[in-house]
Amino acid sequence: MKEKSNLKKPAKRYYRKRVELLRLIDKIKLWPSRKGFLHGIRAVEGVGEQVKITTHCNKSFIVNNSRNCRAARWLRNKWFKGTCPDCGVPQWKLDKFSATRFKRHHGSFLPDNQK
Ligand SMILES: [Zn+2]
Repeated sequence: MKEKSNLKKPAKRYYRKRVELLRLIDKIKLWPSRKGFLHGIRAVEGVGEQVKITTHCNKSFIVNNSRNCRAARWLRNKWFKGTCPDCGVPQWKLDKFSATRFKRHHGSFLPDNQK
């Protein structure tokens, strides 16, 4: 039996540009800090109109669940200059993220019941 190659590129996935921040980061599990580093997200929790985020480096903070906040824009535009050394973001997660495309008229809004 042949072994499957681990070098297979991740499938491209398409999300709407106007997907909610909560749904987006719950899916991507990455958080862009203001300094331009991607943190791995350990937990995401909706708190009313806000989102509580806990990173793998044990930072915890609350942001507004906005479709167009800085973090949402930075994720859509893939703006980051590195990854957090304490979070140890795995390469496969970055590959998956880089294969993610954001479209205005095409892609998933990531509804709750999505399989
Ligand atoms: Zn971190």
